[in-house]
Amino acid sequence: MRFKKVAQNMVSVVVFWLCLVASASAINDIKSVRVWPAPDSTRVVFDLSQKPDFKYFSLKSPHRLVIDFKNSKNLAPLMSAIKADRRVKKIRSSTSKKKDTTRLVLEMADSYRVSVFRLAPAGQYGNRLVIDLYDKQNKTIAKHDNSRGKRDIVIAIVAGHGGEDPGSIGTAGTYEKKITLKIAQKLEKLINKKPGLKAVMIRSGDYYVNHNRKTVLARKAKADLLISIHADAFTSSKPNGASVWLQATRRADTEFTHWIQNREKNSELLGGAGETIKKTKDDNLAIALADMKKEYTMASSYDFAKHVVKQLKKVTKLHKKKPERLSLAVLKSSDIPSVLIETGFISNPQEEKRLNNSAHQQKLAKAIYTAVDHYFSRNPPDGSLLAASRVREHKVSRGESLSVVAQRYKVSVRKLKSANNLKSNVVRIGQTLKIPQAD
Ligand SMILES: [Zn+2]
Repeated sequence: MRFKKVAQNMVSVVVFWLCLVASASAINDIKSVRVWPAPDSTRVVFDLSQKPDFKYFSLKSPHRLVIDFKNSKNLAPLMSAIKADRRVKKIRSSTSKKKDTTRLVLEMADSYRVSVFRLAPAGQYGNRLVIDLYDKQNKTIAKHDNSRGKRDIVIAIVAGHGGEDPGSIGTAGTYEKKITLKIAQKLEKLINKKPGLKAVMIRSGDYYVNHNRKTVLARKAKADLLISIHADAFTSSKPNGASVWLQATRRADTEFTHWIQNREKNSELLGGAGETIKKTKDDNLAIALADMKKEYTMASSYDFAKHVVKQLKKVTKLHKKKPERLSLAVLKSSDIPSVLIETGFISNPQEEKRLNNSAHQQKLAKAIYTAVDHYFSRNPPDGSLLAASRVREHKVSRGESLSVVAQRYKVSVRKLKSANNLKSNVVRIGQTLKIPQAD
């Protein structure tokens, strides 16, 4: 019957549509896999068409991590994902007992600390499942003592972004993560050439280091300073130039200047502050010392930031003429002086070109290095080689005798005399004396 036939067709159309809708919401495609090897971890990222529903477990001998993706289908080429990672040997599929579940297996070289989490769509990426494999044994951090038994000053360098996080992308397609790493590597070389300074790269390749981990690594390396390198971006292509940022605070710059002037005294007060804070039963003292340490760190950050601005001005336009303050996670390691340097605007086509230029990168790195050098020559931490080789001077004021000066710097009168070629013990007001190293 004509009527019946039409009705039947209608039913089949409806059924067909139901199937389409059901399959669109049920089958989650695993579209691709990326592997990011880092010195102490490896990140494996699965791209999916929808938010992943998953379970995972580990197996031993051989070490494997098994991930079950519910209602999923694998479309990713698994073999080509692994380049030369020393942790993940192979990614393969396996059969799951449950229908519609895709089982993928990571064959690993060892057992690792595993962290598995979802990432929501962001930027160029969609839904992701991330697997971080961390080495269990911490590699021993090299001690930075040099031949003369005096330690090196350690500068931790963070090349902004990396791996899954490209940072800003320039109009010509430049990735911020690549520029920051190149400048960081040039800065590392310059720092390591100078005796008494030692650079530690918090990121040395194309992988992502999360904020907490950066601080952990910087602390482990006993960093005296943390420098983050970035390139700015803006919705308009107009802005250009560099800027230097540090942790926001309610203090005025004049107060910081005061802190800097009293650095030596404050530094003495803070010697062993960490130990005292840990051990004291006096809460007020602990709070006061912790507060002081934080202030000291902030004042040092500000002091260093001023040096950076001064040097950058010589090689590039400045977007901000003074160090700027901002509340940033990366700057929150309150016990290590930290600054963030925006080397220029990648969103400005001319500046993007310059930032890609190796000679310009070298100029920026040199400017930052000079700031490091000047800052630590003036403020070498106790026990460092730079502190030991620093030439100190003292201007004699009224009422000061040679023995008073000698006592103040804990050197003998004889040594003080010979350092200054003095024949007698007579010194005059306003005379500048070279202060030799303490005995
Ligand atoms: Zn950035």
